[in-house]
Amino acid sequence: MNRSPQSDKPQRRARLLLLIFALILLCVLAVVSLTLSASRMVAENTDELTRLRIPELQHMGALEQAMADRANQLYLYYATADRAPWKVVNPGLAEAAHAHLAELNRLGLSDQARRDFIALILEFDAHSHGFDQVMQAQPRDWDALRAHLAAGQEALDKMHHELTDWRAQVSRAADASGEVAQDEVIQLTRLQVAFSVAVLLVAAFVLVALYARLKDQDALYRQAYFDDLTGLPNRRFLEKDLAAHVHAARPGCLMVVQASRYRRIGRTFGHGTADQLLAAHVGQLQQVLTAASDTQAQLYRLNTDTLALICLDSVSHVAAEQRAAAMLAIQSDKLVLDGREFHAELRLGLCLFPADGEAVDDLIRNADAAMHAAVAGGPAVAFTLRMAQDSADWLTLESALRHALQRGDFELHYQPKLCARTESLCAAEALIRWRRDGQLVSPGLFIPVAEESGLSVPLGTWVLREACRQWQAWQHAGMSPVPVAVNISTQQFSDPAFPALVAAMLAEFSIPAGMIELEITEAVAASDPEQVVHTLQALKATGVTLAIDDFGTGYSSLAYLQRFPIDTLKIDQAFVRRLGEDPEAAAIIELIQGLAQALDLKVVAEGVETVAQKQFLQAAGCTQLQGYLFSKPLPVAEFSRWLTSL
Ligand code: C2E
Ligand code: MG
Ligand code: MG
Repeated sequence: MNRSPQSDKPQRRARLLLLIFALILLCVLAVVSLTLSASRMVAENTDELTRLRIPELQHMGALEQAMADRANQLYLYYATADRAPWKVVNPGLAEAAHAHLAELNRLGLSDQARRDFIALILEFDAHSHGFDQVMQAQPRDWDALRAHLAAGQEALDKMHHELTDWRAQVSRAADASGEVAQDEVIQLTRLQVAFSVAVLLVAAFVLVALYARLKDQDALYRQAYFDDLTGLPNRRFLEKDLAAHVHAARPGCLMVVQASRYRRIGRTFGHGTADQLLAAHVGQLQQVLTAASDTQAQLYRLNTDTLALICLDSVSHVAAEQRAAAMLAIQSDKLVLDGREFHAELRLGLCLFPADGEAVDDLIRNADAAMHAAVAGGPAVAFTLRMAQDSADWLTLESALRHALQRGDFELHYQPKLCARTESLCAAEALIRWRRDGQLVSPGLFIPVAEESGLSVPLGTWVLREACRQWQAWQHAGMSPVPVAVNISTQQFSDPAFPALVAAMLAEFSIPAGMIELEITEAVAASDPEQVVHTLQALKATGVTLAIDDFGTGYSSLAYLQRFPIDTLKIDQAFVRRLGEDPEAAAIIELIQGLAQALDLKVVAEGVETVAQKQFLQAAGCTQLQGYLFSKPLPVAEFSRWLTSL
């Protein structure tokens, strides 16, 4: 699958929006440019139109034409003495000009100007008439004729002059009104451009707002369905996908993979490093899927340190386990972060659907139960029905443990530790017991639950306080109490406030130095040697002694061991148990003894059950012995008898 589900949907919507925006922009630009060119055309045409179409100018033209006609006929009559054409144009200019003159009123001429013009017309007509009479008289008076002609011409010239003035006046008015029209067109164009820009701005604003909203939606969507660190879809998405596969009756496999050292690495090197490592593991797993060309597989981040994988092409246990083995193979790859070398340590559980469940919650819980049954670094574990029962038991246990802590249903038993040389009591180990429904529950059953549910810190604080209180009680009772060892959980040890708590308890119960020993498992000591050295020094300064419990099974860095301010190594009981059967066990015990001698440490052997074991351990040089051979862990009253016998 390897998809980024629906994540490109908002981008597609954004692209669509941008396209719409571009189209709006183009439309607005087209409208603006059309408006501009249209207005330019209007402006260009206005001038000519106004000039050509003004009726006043037409009438003036007609008037001039009439005047020219009269003058021509008058001169023709004079030249040819033929009266016939002359008679055609009678009666006179006044009559021909009358209609045109009326139209000229629109020019806004003054009455005087009009009267003067009419007087000139009448003068012309009078001279034309006089000319006609002289032409008909015999003999003709040529001087009088010329006088009439000259006077008529003079009247015409004056009329021409007047008309020229009026024409100029009309042209000026036309120009002025043309300019006004052009100004109006320009104003109109500006308004239109402004309107278009406003529309454009509004469209842009709306689009920007829409785009921002889409981006917000996208961010919300990513927050809801994706993990920031790895970019993988999260649990919610897994549930959706799983529901879709189950609904569509698509068979497949669900794997749950836990990076088992994530929390420890976070506590030791900081959460940034743990996150970087997890992201790197995701990269490695993605590569495995890509290399297998598995297009039907999708990784998810289920929670802080746990990933999930859905494989649609692994529908049988064999196929699923093969795929799981390929995933687990990344554990052999080395990762270098800030100059440190890391290896993935994974726990992988798987279940098949629909075979192992048809409800999404059941499937996730079943794959999770299988994962919890897997050993870190070991092979993948497939879900079985027994696991469902176990995980139900686990939950019941956790809630019962919480109640027990509130009610104080715990007690401490004390197991004697004997000096190897004298075989007399020289110390004790406090071991917690849970009195549940009248039965004593062993810590092996509930300490892991307490560790995982965060209860181990309050529980551990109770143990420490109770051991200190009991030590003081023995002392007050006049017994000579021996040093008491208390087991410390990983979470207690990692708590920065822990050394201060220890110091406060020692002070509260007036415990002298060396009377309380803290047993820390080797696994705790292996997490971050530098930090461990620091914490151990702080604890040592409070006056407690320090032991490394179950030594020999973990991953203690020998190089650091000499820097740990510890007093005791407790050999893991597995070696003691194998004494006599496995020569290697004896060799390891001797090796630990040699190491302890070199570092000037005491060695305690626990789990001593037989005389042969005791004798071997005594011969090997162990300092103290602890085991059923001498005594089981005892309730206070019984252990007190050991103290009184001292
Ligand atoms: P541990 O600290 O290594 O304690 C020794 C365990 O070995 C005890 O089991 C003890 O009863 C058992 N044991 C002692 N001698 C023999 C023997 O000869 N044969 C056999 N088969 N077993 C022997 P227990 O009390 O069940 O405790 C188991 C583990 O639970 C402890 O291992 C310790 O890791 C943890 N634990 C016990 N009490 C506490 C506690 O108060 N706080 C924490 N954090 N862990 C505790
Ligand atoms: Mg112990
Ligand atoms: Mg032990």
